[in-house]
Amino acid sequence: MCYNTFTGDYMAKYIDLRKEYKKENLQEAANYIKNGKLVLFPTETVYGIGADGLNAEAVKNIFLAKGRNSDNPLILHVSDFKMVDKIACALTPLEKTLMKNFFPGPLTIVLKRKSIVPDQVTANLDTVGVRMPENKIAHDLIALANTPIAAPSANISGRPSGTNISDIFDELKDKVDYIIDGGETKVGLESTVIRVINNEIHILRPGKITYDDLKKYANVVIPTHILSQVNPNEKILSPGMKYKHYAPNTKCILVYSENKEKMLHKMQELETTNTLVITNKINMPYFKNSISYGSSLEEISHNIFKILRSVDKGNYDLVIIEGVKAEGLGLAIMNRLIRACSHNYIEL
Ligand code: AMP
Ligand code: MG
Repeated sequence: MCYNTFTGDYMAKYIDLRKEYKKENLQEAANYIKNGKLVLFPTETVYGIGADGLNAEAVKNIFLAKGRNSDNPLILHVSDFKMVDKIACALTPLEKTLMKNFFPGPLTIVLKRKSIVPDQVTANLDTVGVRMPENKIAHDLIALANTPIAAPSANISGRPSGTNISDIFDELKDKVDYIIDGGETKVGLESTVIRVINNEIHILRPGKITYDDLKKYANVVIPTHILSQVNPNEKILSPGMKYKHYAPNTKCILVYSENKEKMLHKMQELETTNTLVITNKINMPYFKNSISYGSSLEEISHNIFKILRSVDKGNYDLVIIEGVKAEGLGLAIMNRLIRACSHNYIEL
């Protein structure tokens, strides 16, 4: 960290790699990781708060920085298959096939862990979430640090994940040691998290890799809590699903119907003089005060966290969000929006 002589605050070191990037620019950040420090870095999904995933003390500091519950495990990010072997064992043929087809990329596979992985990473589970990012900066940082990097999404727990540095700078500048600015993240939503059980693929968290992408390889199971609240009696495979997530401070409500007229009518009914409506470009004129989150599912996934972060600046009484069909990438979008709205969801 650096001491700011003007404000008296401790602030993270910052490096701007948005325009020009060379691998050697990352050596210093990699050294920070090796020395047990926290590094904010881009991946293709969202930004992550990274630390040496094999250093229990460094990992503890991630939980402190985020205010994250210690029973919510972290994903280990690797740069090659040798690193997978270092942390996971007893891989089944299906797990190997999935890795071969989706690594590097926005898929996390929950695997049986090796004892080298600290209990803090896995929240004492006997499994570890493993992902190989495709983003060049993320890949090179892990390779240079030469250790799996534990990295949850870059946000204070409960808040929307960070997809660009300007959105999260104030929130995290004095909580991490080093910030790598790599511009806007490509996907904008966190990775799909899966676990293979009895040769079936269970989606623990939906993301860019969809049900259809996965079902080419095996039967795919989607638990009901992906689109609803976790039932306290239900055995959940992904602890993260229990918690408040992605939420602005302003009250939000999500509305969806396959019948567009009905949906727009309900949204208009909810609109007051001080509401903001988040919708697509075509539907904007139906409302007094609206912004567009994009027209395609890709655009929505790319923009949604940025928009959710911006709504608190407007002092609105209520934010009304138009839902999408929970299919393909739409499943991940609805999973995030339902949580952003604290399950305040009207489906007609
Ligand atoms: P985040 O770190 O915010 O991207 O969230 C990571 C997600 O992966 C959370 O929902 C975790 O509960 C889930 N996760 C990570 N490791 C495991 C694991 N070993 N078993 C089950 N879920 C996991
Ligand atoms: Mg998160």
